[in-house]
Amino acid sequence: MLKVLDSAVPIACWSCAVAHNESTLFCPHCSKIQPPPGADYYSVFSLEPRLTLDLGMLEHQFHKLSRKLHPDRFARATPEEKDWSLADTALLNDAYRTLRDPIRRTEYLLKLHGAEIGEEHSGKGRTDPSRVPADLLEEVFDLNMQLEEMRAAKKMGEEDPDLKQSLTEAKKKFDGLLDDVDNDLRTQWTAWDDGDASARSAAQKTMLALLDRRRYLDNLVRDVNETLGAN
Ligand SMILES: [Zn+2]
Repeated sequence: MLKVLDSAVPIACWSCAVAHNESTLFCPHCSKIQPPPGADYYSVFSLEPRLTLDLGMLEHQFHKLSRKLHPDRFARATPEEKDWSLADTALLNDAYRTLRDPIRRTEYLLKLHGAEIGEEHSGKGRTDPSRVPADLLEEVFDLNMQLEEMRAAKKMGEEDPDLKQSLTEAKKKFDGLLDDVDNDLRTQWTAWDDGDASARSAAQKTMLALLDRRRYLDNLVRDVNETLGAN
């Protein structure tokens, strides 16, 4: 379970004993490294928890902290400080990877706000037909038939240029649908970031549905890529 966002619990620095916010990697008073903080990824970078993020600022903070965590700086540190520098680096990298990616960032922040996300929560497998977005039923059915045909042809060592062409076109279409989902998500970001409680809750619901649709389309495109032998 992830920690709640506003938990800025003060902690005494192990070195100078001055209390500081638990989210910081370095003591603001004596600059000594601190054990990996338990706060959320945003506070590691001193950023507001928003979906619309200043990526330049994120990158700037990431590089600044990475430099401060560089192993060379801990060559003569205590074993604890060395351990913390490694653990802090792992946390920093995870936090950066998550926040710079728009989809992972969205999932992360919604999870922080109690949303259940991902296939592990849907209770259904990938192949469950009830997971197919209603407006795509027919196209997905056709696509799966073509994928089956393609796999069978490949097994026999046969080339089927028409089928390949048709699958390539289908892939293009589904790639386009993925772009649409991403644009719709971005629209919801603003509603979530700046809206009141009810606007935020509506945006959250819409985004969860969009993330489901996105995951579905993503799997589909991956299937087509694998079958076509592309990467
Ligand atoms: Zn200190």
